[in-house]
Amino acid sequence: MNRVRLLVLNAALGPLDYRLPEGVSAPPGTVVVAPLGPRKVMGIVWDEGRLPGDAIAFERLRPILEVLPVPPLPAPLRRLIEWTADYYCAPLASTARMALASGGALGGPATMTEYRLSGGLPERMTAQRLAAIEALEGEQGTMRELAGIAGVSEGVLRGLVNQGVIEPVTVNIDRPYPPADPDFHQPALSEAQGAVAGTLVEAVRAEKFAPFLLDGVTGSGKTETYFEPVAAAIRAGRQVLVLLPEIALTENFLARFAARFGAAPVLWHSSLKSTERRRAWRAISDGSAQVVVGARSALFLPYANLGLIVVDEAHEISFKQDDGVRYNARDVAVMRARFEGLPVILASATPALESLHMADMGVYTKLDLPARFGGASLPHVRLINLTEEKPGSQRWLAGPLIDALRDRLDKGEQSLLFLNRRGYAPLTLCRNCGHRFKCPSCSAWLVEHRLSARLACHHCGFETRVPEACPECGESDCLVACGPGVERIAAEVAELFPEARVVVATSDTLNTPDRAAEFIAMAEGKAIDIIIGTQLVTKGFHFPDLTLVGVVDADLGLEGGDLRAGERTYAQIAQVAGRAGRGAKPGEVLIQTRHPDAPVIAALANGDRDAFYAAETEGRRDAGAPPFGRWAAIILSSEDEKEAREAAQRLGDVRPRLADVQILGPAPAPLSLLRGRYRYRFLVNARRSANLQAMLRDWIGGVNFAPGVRVGVDIDPYSFV
Ligand code: ADP
Ligand code: ZN
Repeated sequence: MNRVRLLVLNAALGPLDYRLPEGVSAPPGTVVVAPLGPRKVMGIVWDEGRLPGDAIAFERLRPILEVLPVPPLPAPLRRLIEWTADYYCAPLASTARMALASGGALGGPATMTEYRLSGGLPERMTAQRLAAIEALEGEQGTMRELAGIAGVSEGVLRGLVNQGVIEPVTVNIDRPYPPADPDFHQPALSEAQGAVAGTLVEAVRAEKFAPFLLDGVTGSGKTETYFEPVAAAIRAGRQVLVLLPEIALTENFLARFAARFGAAPVLWHSSLKSTERRRAWRAISDGSAQVVVGARSALFLPYANLGLIVVDEAHEISFKQDDGVRYNARDVAVMRARFEGLPVILASATPALESLHMADMGVYTKLDLPARFGGASLPHVRLINLTEEKPGSQRWLAGPLIDALRDRLDKGEQSLLFLNRRGYAPLTLCRNCGHRFKCPSCSAWLVEHRLSARLACHHCGFETRVPEACPECGESDCLVACGPGVERIAAEVAELFPEARVVVATSDTLNTPDRAAEFIAMAEGKAIDIIIGTQLVTKGFHFPDLTLVGVVDADLGLEGGDLRAGERTYAQIAQVAGRAGRGAKPGEVLIQTRHPDAPVIAALANGDRDAFYAAETEGRRDAGAPPFGRWAAIILSSEDEKEAREAAQRLGDVRPRLADVQILGPAPAPLSLLRGRYRYRFLVNARRSANLQAMLRDWIGGVNFAPGVRVGVDIDPYSFV
């Protein structure tokens, strides 16, 4: 057959038919370049009969231009792309594009130039040159990387190149990665760990679909345990994908991986340089990348020979992508394992209710690690009732928490204060006229960041300097910060304990792998007394001398009141509590709350996870929420308020009336203005009997919207704004 149907990688275009030139073979999955009018488009040859299209006479078909020199996307990946697009109501093209994430991987040069010291000396040595040369000893990299290492401009380095002090080297971008050795350092597992690892190793050997929920308390050694099936896959010559929720966590993971396997895994995340991206993509698609550690986008890559998927911290909401294709990597990981026929491990100390439900139904096999490794005990949890123990005016730490902090400082132990709010204060207003600082393009308050002296919108990234005077009434020195963020807690701590070494750990301060690594080294090296952090510090970290965790405001996450508020609050606080007492010394957790009797808070205080899940399950059952029923959100947006509103009304007018589907809205979305677009929202609640996706497609597909209107569908939404 020399006629092919392409999945064209442009969501505005449907599938298109082309002719294969004489002698060219292009099995399904082949990546090609084809002509489209005067332009060229990239596409993937798709399986016959699986994409709709018109039968155009063969003579009228244009030939494809080029077959790209990469392996065809394997069939299980093609099925995964179809499933994802269908389930999440997303364009196939946008979904397929995630598999080809790297333009550079498919073409571009195979070599690049890096630089290193040649051993020669400059004619004229300056202090700056000397310092640069010393800093570059043993280093090799691009001009920009070396300039970063040496702390000088690229111009300075170029001067050294001209004098022969620095020499260029040609590097093969696609050079192989150092191999991981499954036997490099095998730790002695505890009995419980060994039993779980044994089951998982067997599943890797069986090479069949098998979903596992690895449910282990914080500090139980889930990582060490799942490293055994990883080793088994490496021994069998198969690839492993480990998904992590946050790049900030990878540093920690990389060190542990290297200690176990003697080499670094292959990294995949959005801030890779294009050459690293190409190298990784190629190694993944030719099977030579043994273990890939990545953010959720690593899930759609064309692994040649996958043998195991691990989703670590599987409860994390950052596995849900909230723009573009709105998929949940945890769920798609299970589907990928199904299409590929291999085991998948969801690891967590606080599994999502949906995952526990699947285990209860017998779909997932639940494996338990009920105790901390090495005999460490779980921390002792105590509530501080803020209605009784009131912090001072414009203060947020209550007496008992301050006493506990002082006690740890005296003993030379570490403390961690958790508040899930970046910046200094979530709202700034004028004491004189009441003016509140708002984002010009979002319906959101600007958050004051004192460290950078900025007011910032956390939704669109808008930033402005903190003004001297109120822009509304012109009065100076009249701005008041309302409420605390982590920076304000840090200021309070600095006042209380001027001698303490305090670090604020948020996505603002740990925004690169290097900074994250530096933070970990400092914390491990006992160079920090008190860590003050957002949700970033709730995950994965293992600091043996950390014995006190203080939750500044446990009620914060419950205020939004969305569907998952309870579960999210429980997971966050249980995870941050799990950072305490992981070493030899026991840990203590103090939780500040105004609602000590709220079920979530009481369950945390009593360490009664089962009670929390049982109550949450009943609540979800009553509300028809997942896993018992399903939710979807539809967001219509436009830069023009009227256009958005009218589009929402038109869609509302033709809403389907079905017995098993309830449609709420349209109403202005909680964030009614976002990045300059006005937003209206429908919420759809469906029973399991309904075909939610088909109903949404028919409904939305039946309306013609103005060109300025964007329609976003979010299946199983996590964000309710
Ligand atoms: P979890 O991810 O379950 O919270 P970790 O995997 O971080 O727990 O393990 C907690 C600590 O115990 C880590 O420092 C880890 O290296 C150590 N550990 C766990 N299991 C073992 C083992 N079998 N041998 C040696 N150290 C272990
Ligand atoms: Zn904004």
